[in-house]
Amino acid sequence: MSRVTDHLLVRARGLDAADPLAAFRERFVITDPDVVYLDGNSLGRLPKATRDRLREVVDREWGAELIRGWDRWMSLAREVGDVLAGGVLEALPGEVVLSDSTSVNLYKLAAAACDARPGRRVIVTDDDNFPTDQYILQGLAAARGMELRVVRSDLDAGVSAREVIAALDSDVALVSLSHVAYRSGAVADLPGITAAAHAVGALALWDLCHSAGSVPVPLRSAGVDLAVGCTYKHLNGGPGAPAFLYVRAELQSTLRQPIWGWFGQRGQFDMAGGYDPVESVERFLVGTPPVLGGYAALEGARITAEAGIDAIAAKGRALGAYAIELFDAWLAPHGFALASPRDDARRGAHVTLHHPQAWQISQALRAANVIPDFRTPDRLRLGFAPLYTSFAEVCLGFERLREIVESGSYKAFPAERSRVT
Ligand SMILES: *Cc1c(COP(=O)(O)O)cnc(C)c1O
Repeated sequence: MSRVTDHLLVRARGLDAADPLAAFRERFVITDPDVVYLDGNSLGRLPKATRDRLREVVDREWGAELIRGWDRWMSLAREVGDVLAGGVLEALPGEVVLSDSTSVNLYKLAAAACDARPGRRVIVTDDDNFPTDQYILQGLAAARGMELRVVRSDLDAGVSAREVIAALDSDVALVSLSHVAYRSGAVADLPGITAAAHAVGALALWDLCHSAGSVPVPLRSAGVDLAVGCTYKHLNGGPGAPAFLYVRAELQSTLRQPIWGWFGQRGQFDMAGGYDPVESVERFLVGTPPVLGGYAALEGARITAEAGIDAIAAKGRALGAYAIELFDAWLAPHGFALASPRDDARRGAHVTLHHPQAWQISQALRAANVIPDFRTPDRLRLGFAPLYTSFAEVCLGFERLREIVESGSYKAFPAERSRVT
């Protein structure tokens, strides 16, 4: 091992020794300690508490209680929402609820926002927003004869508040953006953009998929109107776990979402014929919730709330800063460039690198037991999950990456892309 490697590994060990969250790693299922998992921002690891809870729920609740379990299950969506509101998102109890997928929630809330601004013809988003967000907004605009005004964003620096503000006028009904950019990890100016949207009379809807569980989200203090996000990334809720939605308390009784389902209905089991939604956040629910996924989301939210979002964010920044040190020392000389903000305060918990052969390199990494994400057009996205990623693990992953590019071994992998990346 060279001197520089040695020095950076010693630093990793020191950072791990001083890490106040180090003990949380033990609370996740880790079957193969040789795997360097840098994809917790796409699918979080399984918390042991979730595994145990699901076993118990399957046996004791579904297995034994059968339909009587609904007495308990009916309040699960709201229970998870309250854990998220109090421990993860800086919202009030009753402002967040678990429901559907992020895509569907975005549709419901964006449509509700447009209905609340009749006569306004424009929705504003940016061209680096997550594809499903862009498609949902395109479909909504097309169905309503509205204009989708798409601000251009730098792929590495993220959405610029200045450019968004320049796109605002009194015809804008809704501004819908992601808080942490899925590709670069850049953090948008959520308070500034929200205030600017309000200044022209528009509503602000934020996608929190990459921020929930990785950085603080000041929903109340920034006066955010609406938000959506998933629980299977940094919240470790498991594959396909239900998403959440947030509606500012003051707006709840005046907004109406377009999918009039019975879970939003007042006196649901009266089975009355006319739709009359409840006043609370449950009016944004639609149909029967996924209970097993709901319990998994509950345990994931709890472990995040227990660790504390400020401690999680601090470690996320430190992991990213350490990864950028490794990048500077080992990878910049080999054709890599940083595709994320260098400033810790402007970055979520992932770091993206670009390299012309990123797709081949990502396959070589998997073969070397390092799991990254490939992202178009030529980027490796390395996600750090502060609850279980250690500095030593980051060091090991980068060492394997350096070896792959130094030896050129990645050239043996296909240049053609596969379906799921
Ligand atoms: C992961 C992600 C989604 C996923 O939406 P689903 O409906 O759960 O498939 C949406 N938006 C962003 C910003 C994401 O990162």
